[in-house]
Amino acid sequence: MPTVPAESLRSIARDIFEALGAPSEDAEAVADVLVEANLAGHDSHGVIRVTQHCASVRAGDTVPGATTTTVRETATTTIHDAQWNFGAVAMSRALADGMDKARDLGMHAFGIHNCNHIGRLGHYSDLAARAGFVPMIAVNSTGAGASVAPYGGRHGKLGTNPFCVAFPTTDDPVLMDMTSSIVAEGKIRVRRNSGESLPEGWILDRHGDPSTDPEDFYGPPRGAILPFGGPVAHKGFALSMMAELLAGSLTGAGNVGERDGHIGNGVFCLLMDVGAFRAEADFRSTASRVGAYVKDCEPADGTDEVLLPGEPEHRARHSRSASGIVVDDTTWRGLCEEAAKAGLAAPQT
Ligand code: NAD
Repeated sequence: MPTVPAESLRSIARDIFEALGAPSEDAEAVADVLVEANLAGHDSHGVIRVTQHCASVRAGDTVPGATTTTVRETATTTIHDAQWNFGAVAMSRALADGMDKARDLGMHAFGIHNCNHIGRLGHYSDLAARAGFVPMIAVNSTGAGASVAPYGGRHGKLGTNPFCVAFPTTDDPVLMDMTSSIVAEGKIRVRRNSGESLPEGWILDRHGDPSTDPEDFYGPPRGAILPFGGPVAHKGFALSMMAELLAGSLTGAGNVGERDGHIGNGVFCLLMDVGAFRAEADFRSTASRVGAYVKDCEPADGTDEVLLPGEPEHRARHSRSASGIVVDDTTWRGLCEEAAKAGLAAPQT
């Protein structure tokens, strides 16, 4: 498996998206979100998605260069229509707009309609938290994408519906970014690409029976992912319903199972300006002190230390920035094929 520096991966992905018709700034934004996911250790949301994005453009499901329009607006809320541009482009634009508005009035909430997959939520929350906001993001799956079984059910009815909240500190943000399913779909894809079986308790097969074979999830017919929580999976299911109603219903973006065909992300994001609540510097040092207090705990057997939410990703970013990103062979082959289709020089490791 090749090891590739982040900067090379970024330019390979950017050139491919540009060749597909994305304006250079947009191609850069999509490549950035993908490579930052690899750097954070979430290969499931990294350049593994390039071929999927390319197929989506060719099928007409992603519209490079589409403008984001405003559907509805008040002083503290905005509903955007991404018009099926890349999700990363729509979310990056909406986030920048939301931070400007939250700076003025103390907080701002936005939703996005007709939005393709935005990728790793933590990417956007990290940016917002470093800029002095507390972001809260919920995402659902609009249209198709019923891949997660409700608690007590045998078949997929919901998306993996992730939730993300982050807080600025004097150093890296404390950042929770998690699916309400036991695992993100992309992590099943990573195991399928590398021929590994799944841990028990991740999926059901097409009949609703437990399985450890990734192919049983993909089918066809498809199986289902379980909500997170194992013996208390009713909690993961409860979170999933909240994300579904916030991101799909409150915003008006649409809910899972409502339309056939075009699968996308409904997005809800609330941005709170720390400075509207208290002096930002005071909050940052309080958050760091609370984090240090919690971390100062004797580790349990089999654990070296207590990590805060977000810490595994910050550490991965530091080490992968230095050592490069290991790209699985299937993904690398996909990048080389897409580069060839676009008439670009063969990517080098
Ligand atoms: P995960 O289980 O790896 O991590 C969940 C949270 O736990 C993170 O905040 C992480 O920092 C924290 N964490 C992990 N290990 C820890 C440890 N040892 N100690 C303390 N904290 C720890 O993440 P996930 O649920 O598999 O989600 C993966 C990614 O998938 C997320 O980035 C999410 O945004 C993305 N996703 C996106 C979509 C979409 O439609 N756009 C859908 C699903 C998931």
